[in-house]
Amino acid sequence: MIKIEDYYPRATFQKMKAFADQHETPFVVIDTETISKAYDDLRGSFEFAKIYYAVKANPAVEIIDLLKDKGSSFDIASIYELDKVMSRGVGPERISYGNTIKKSKDIRYFFEKGVRLFATDSEADLRNIAKAAPGSKVYVRILTEGSTTADWPLSRKFGCQTDMAMDLLILARQLGLEPYGISFHVGSQQRDISVWDAAIAKVKVIFERLKEEDGIVLKMINMGGGFPANYIAKTNDLETYAAEIIRFLKEDFGDELPEIILEPGRSLIANAGILVSEVVLVSRKSRTAVERWVYADVGKFSGLIETMDEAIKFPIWTEKKGEMEEVVIAGPTCDSADIMYENYRYGLPLNLAAGDRLYWLSTGAYTTSYSAVEFNGFPPLKAYYI
Ligand SMILES: *Cc1c(COP(=O)(O)O)cnc(C)c1O
Repeated sequence: MIKIEDYYPRATFQKMKAFADQHETPFVVIDTETISKAYDDLRGSFEFAKIYYAVKANPAVEIIDLLKDKGSSFDIASIYELDKVMSRGVGPERISYGNTIKKSKDIRYFFEKGVRLFATDSEADLRNIAKAAPGSKVYVRILTEGSTTADWPLSRKFGCQTDMAMDLLILARQLGLEPYGISFHVGSQQRDISVWDAAIAKVKVIFERLKEEDGIVLKMINMGGGFPANYIAKTNDLETYAAEIIRFLKEDFGDELPEIILEPGRSLIANAGILVSEVVLVSRKSRTAVERWVYADVGKFSGLIETMDEAIKFPIWTEKKGEMEEVVIAGPTCDSADIMYENYRYGLPLNLAAGDRLYWLSTGAYTTSYSAVEFNGFPPLKAYYI
């Protein structure tokens, strides 16, 4: 049985629940104070770092405004995110174009808007940047280990090997760009802190070799995201992550650290949200079947795509009490991919019935932005920011 106190302070949950009680499901309710506090905690843990919020985690204007006012910068992946963030009054000096997969005309668009900081991981993209955004700062994303210990790996599609990273930074200088630094992302919801150690050690090698062999002095390390949210699988707390990562940095770079950038998404937002849903149907597949199927009014296509391969196991809470039994949990659409949990067996009370509410905890990040527009006619997931 999920204990609410493990996930939310009592007063916060009561406030969110009182709001939820007034609204028809399904929707996400997001407590902005929790985001504010998560930002402050990260700020406090990494005093020397610059924070670039990864907008894809939740692009709501309420969140952009809040983080803008707190002094955050923004990691942006598309011209659409750029327009949205700049329309809220964020200046281009607070923006990094962090996507390594981009069209030449989109690079030009960013440049014309004043953005001067670009990620890359390939020669073709780097040459595009040199043409469309001349003189800009570039940082190269490297591949890291850690895909087996991250619940939502990001480390294979993006990044290049160390040797290529060095070649690209040398080429950047030849092309009139400023070779600025190195980035990595150890995978989202990364549960193994030691993968940062290996990544930082790789960065150190690149910094040293470029300086000694090519006279290129890099100035920045972008450590990406990967910091944890609270799901069913426990992680260390943020202070432990910070203490360890700072120790790794100091071991390799001493007290004179380069500029450090963090790009949190999940860890800032997830814990601020509760996805409130309703049971549509409870059924069994045969007279003797031991397991029940619980169908909710939300699913893979309405915000829960991170249940793909059961990667993220959201804590699910209900007010119903009593004897628990294993269930399969599925969504409401006519697609058999729309099953959230089948292998990992959740327990839900035997007396759970249609109309009862299921509360999906820690669902502030990667839910609204992943929701389909009109699959089976279901509208996109609603969100309220309180
Ligand atoms: C998605 C993404 C992030 C955010 O990662 P989290 O694990 O959600 O904190 C940061 N940087 C880049 C480049 C990303 O693509």
